[in-house]
Amino acid sequence: MMIKTPAEVNQIKQSCQILARVMTELKSMVRPGLSTAELNQAAEDLIAQAGAEPSFKNYNGFPAALCTSVNEVIVHGPPTDYQLQSGDIVSLDLGAFYQGFHSDMAITVPVGSIDGQSERLIYVTEEALMRGIEAVKPGGYLGDIGQAISEYVWQQGFDVVRELCGHGIGRSVHEEPDVLNFGRSGQGLMLKPGLVICLEPMVTIGRAQIKLAADGLSYVSQDGSRSAHFEHTVAVTEEGVDILTQMS
Ligand code: MG
Repeated sequence: MMIKTPAEVNQIKQSCQILARVMTELKSMVRPGLSTAELNQAAEDLIAQAGAEPSFKNYNGFPAALCTSVNEVIVHGPPTDYQLQSGDIVSLDLGAFYQGFHSDMAITVPVGSIDGQSERLIYVTEEALMRGIEAVKPGGYLGDIGQAISEYVWQQGFDVVRELCGHGIGRSVHEEPDVLNFGRSGQGLMLKPGLVICLEPMVTIGRAQIKLAADGLSYVSQDGSRSAHFEHTVAVTEEGVDILTQMS
């Protein structure tokens, strides 16, 4: 069901708050020399300690809990022995399953000191997510979200990935509706209280043409330019929007 009851929204929020705490911890661990496999192990341990399970492990063949997408990798990077280096950017995408309900969020984190354009990429991608969230209100439309995100990204001279999108969430990690990162205001599904969706802009410095990498899991930019990814799970409320995965 696309529209959740208040009790269901509350349960999704509990899952989301576990996830936000885990993500805060993972963010603080990122440093040069740490491998992405070590980050994944920490994610698995922290989720288990919270009494939850990882949503993505073994989902569509993904081998781990945490997606670790470095530099030109856009999403779905599997953890490896690769040790993060100063100057890298790494996107962490994680889902939790707690008492029957999923949560999903992503952040992009700088490793050590990064160049100015990468810094701006991270800033613009997070701001694009926030502008998308600001467009979420009862009586609004999915197209309002897509337009707010894409218009802002293009104004900043970056590009937004169109082959991948956000989604509904609840008892399954990916539910209806698709939440596109482009579109036209006033078009698409009307937003109603109880709709719980994941907004997740993926932004590239160059053109947002994507391809599957040799590992068969990662999506990378065709031109090799860097990419960032931010995601929140949000609920449409009577008043507007509640960011369920808000990091405190
Ligand atoms: Mg997602």
